[in-house]
Amino acid sequence: MSGAAWVIATDTKYLVSMVTAGAALGAAPTVVAVGPRDLAEAAAESGAGQVVWLEPTAGTPAEAYGPAVAALVTAAGPRLLLASSAAAARTLLGAAAAALGAATVSGAIAVEASGDKVAVKCSRLGGAVVETFEAAGPVAAVCQGYDAPAPGGAAPIESADLGQPAALTIADEHPAPGGGGLTEAERVVGFGRGIKVRADMAMVEELAAALNAAVGCTMPVADDYKWMDQYIGRSGLSIAPKLYLALGIQGSPQHTQGIRDVKVVAAINTDPEAPIFRRATYGIVADLYEVVPEILAALKS
Ligand SMILES: Cc1cc2nc3c(=O)[nH]c(=O)nc-3n(C[C@H](O)[C@H](O)[C@H](O)COP(=O)(O)OP(=O)(O)OC[C@H]3O[C@@H](n4cnc5c(N)ncnc54)[C@H](O)[C@@H]3O)c2cc1C
Repeated sequence: MSGAAWVIATDTKYLVSMVTAGAALGAAPTVVAVGPRDLAEAAAESGAGQVVWLEPTAGTPAEAYGPAVAALVTAAGPRLLLASSAAAARTLLGAAAAALGAATVSGAIAVEASGDKVAVKCSRLGGAVVETFEAAGPVAAVCQGYDAPAPGGAAPIESADLGQPAALTIADEHPAPGGGGLTEAERVVGFGRGIKVRADMAMVEELAAALNAAVGCTMPVADDYKWMDQYIGRSGLSIAPKLYLALGIQGSPQHTQGIRDVKVVAAINTDPEAPIFRRATYGIVADLYEVVPEILAALKS
């Protein structure tokens, strides 16, 4: 197995766009597909030159195949490794990059061969800036791609058997409190540190229920307060509902990166200068503790 570019995939997220990007190094990339047979078949039709398939055993997460993927990659020695931002894919990318001694970058949107170097263009500040990195050695990139129809083709699928995965099992899986279906929801009510105490989440949840919306939050609410498991933003979830109602959210670039694909943003914030108003279609400069009960009353009547 060889090839200038390798793509590590644990699902079909950005698969075609990553294969297309990797082909810029002059050859159709090899895809390492860690998942069910369907994934390997999708990879075979993605424009890849070949597919190496690892099928996780029942109860074993894709992440357990880090050592196996790292061994495959180091044996082939590609110049470029690509993976989507899916949690399992970027975890495997990290394992492979470490084994390969590759530089790591994130937010890659395009790749170019630049003499004997590889140039990786990365999106920064929510797409406002494009930064180009030039790597003289191997480089591993977490991609910001797009979902495109497969061009077709039938790359050979080679089943890899690299022995036992690492001793990692899925011990428990349960829906996140209040955060279910965030990425699929048509409406999302998001809240930030404008909500003062945990008990006030009940008001947010009541509003979300009345709007048939999912509930999301900012990073400090999840990471510092531990009120929810998941948050929206650059290092959290990207959401794409028709309506995002932002309550007491400042609107930092890290947060708004996760709402780029929202159609309509409505924001309530006491600070007229809050950056969220630059992203919002509708804005109310007011205390959410006054406005939310009014919205609830209006919805009920
Ligand atoms: C590397 C890195 C990655 C990050 N990734 C993320 C990420 O993925 N997602 C994310 O969310 N953040 C992320 N952050 C944090 C981000 O920079 C902000 O600090 C964070 O989003 C702010 O959260 P907040 O809006 O809840 O809080 P604050 O900044 O405290 O803002 C609270 C807002 O509520 C308003 N407010 C207060 N009281 C009321 C009231 N009664 N009524 C109405 N409005 C009120 C205030 O005016 C203020 O605008 C990241 C930071 C770093 C450094």
